[in-house]
Amino acid sequence: MKVMAQDAAAKQDAGRDVRTEASMIKVFATEMATLVIDRAMQTFGAMGVTKEMPLQLMAQKVRTMRVYEGPTEVHRMVVARRQMALWR
Ligand SMILES: Cc1cc2nc3c(=O)[nH]c(=O)nc-3n(C[C@H](O)[C@H](O)[C@H](O)COP(=O)(O)OP(=O)(O)OC[C@H]3O[C@@H](n4cnc5c(N)ncnc54)[C@H](O)[C@@H]3O)c2cc1C
Repeated sequence: MKVMAQDAAAKQDAGRDVRTEASMIKVFATEMATLVIDRAMQTFGAMGVTKEMPLQLMAQKVRTMRVYEGPTEVHRMVVARRQMALWR
């Protein structure tokens, strides 16, 4: 994730179009965060799903990110369309 962000930032600094990289980062970061939080919840069992821990709040926040930063499906479609355009 850090390398993806650094790569996109370097391209942006060089004046390049980074819309594809931005979409890839949003999909990867939000899906990875979803997975990590879910595994942490599972690891803590009942405690992981109570308000005693911040995991429930984190899961709720990350879940909305997969919509408000542009739905994951739309980012995937945009990345695929741009990649197809490169091959034409
Ligand atoms: C907390 C929050 C804050 C927000 N803040 C802002 C803001 O500051 N500025 C702003 O402009 N907007 C904001 N939004 C709106 C947000 O950008 C939209 O909700 C988002 O783009 C999805 O649009 P929609 O809700 O109309 O869902 P829809 O477009 O109806 O999509 C619903 C679902 O259908 C699927 N889908 C949609 N299109 C496709 C497709 N082409 N291919 C495959 N599947 C598809 C996806 O699974 C998607 O999640 C915010 C939303 C939330 C929840």
